[in-house]
Amino acid sequence: MRIAIASGKGGTGKTTLSVNLALKLAESKSTALIDLDVEEPNGSIFLKGKLINSLDAQRMVPVWEQKKCNLCGKCPAHCLYNAVIRLGDYILVMPELCHSCHACSELCPADALPMQASPLGTINHFQENKLDFLESRLNIGLEMASPLINQALAYTDKHFATHEYQILDSPPGTSCSMIAAVQTADYSILVTEPTPFGLYDLTLAVETLRHLSQPFGVVVNRWGIGNNEVIKYLEKENIPLIAKIDHQREIASFYSQGKILYRDFPTVNTALEAIISHLEALK
Ligand code: SF4
Ligand code: SF4
Repeated sequence: MRIAIASGKGGTGKTTLSVNLALKLAESKSTALIDLDVEEPNGSIFLKGKLINSLDAQRMVPVWEQKKCNLCGKCPAHCLYNAVIRLGDYILVMPELCHSCHACSELCPADALPMQASPLGTINHFQENKLDFLESRLNIGLEMASPLINQALAYTDKHFATHEYQILDSPPGTSCSMIAAVQTADYSILVTEPTPFGLYDLTLAVETLRHLSQPFGVVVNRWGIGNNEVIKYLEKENIPLIAKIDHQREIASFYSQGKILYRDFPTVNTALEAIISHLEALK
């Protein structure tokens, strides 16, 4: 099963849950954890495994060849992302805006915009005990998360296809990078907290998953810090509440030290057992 751990906003405990769930699953089942939060991959703070494989991820971007160009103006007219513009007698390509769609290169009548490989980020495969851990990290300054997510998922398909569980630590929010991660999952777990902000962002994530026709349930983290509105919302919307994790100050202290939680905190371990039972029942 491929399970996406997602949240409507950052800071809900999504990565903590992903790492602890993956480690707990790996005690008895073949499991891979794939960190797709490519702009801020934090899984390696908790996992210090042995490096198995390291890849430089690349993407294709157009490069302007001035001598061939007749300044026909087709490329800026057809780029949906304003990644190629004309400045006087010059064509300027902005790689940070380019979505590698190839349109300008294909449409150029003078063959003056050949596509060339450009660095995108890194994909590192670690092993910690029986857990395979894939970290995908976008190069600083780039905003093209989805191509790197897709390459990490391709690596997952190739190397972890026979694992019983693939846990995806998805990017936070409801942007296209979150969608790129969750749309490949068999099931999604939304992590939220019982506060007005948590509820608001949860409703956005629920709308997104419903739009994608993705099955999902919810884990409420830091139970006890806010109110009961999240639970009422889940009941009203007929959304499965998979587990609640009680708020404890000591958990935050452990977390800030990069420590694994479920072996020391029964509330976390109980929640993980509830999640695993829920997932097993879906098979
Ligand atoms: S489409 Fe090709 S020839 Fe036309 S302006 Fe762009 S680079 Fe130049
Ligand atoms: S490849 Fe696509 S996104 Fe990139 S500059 Fe060309 S038209 Fe724009």
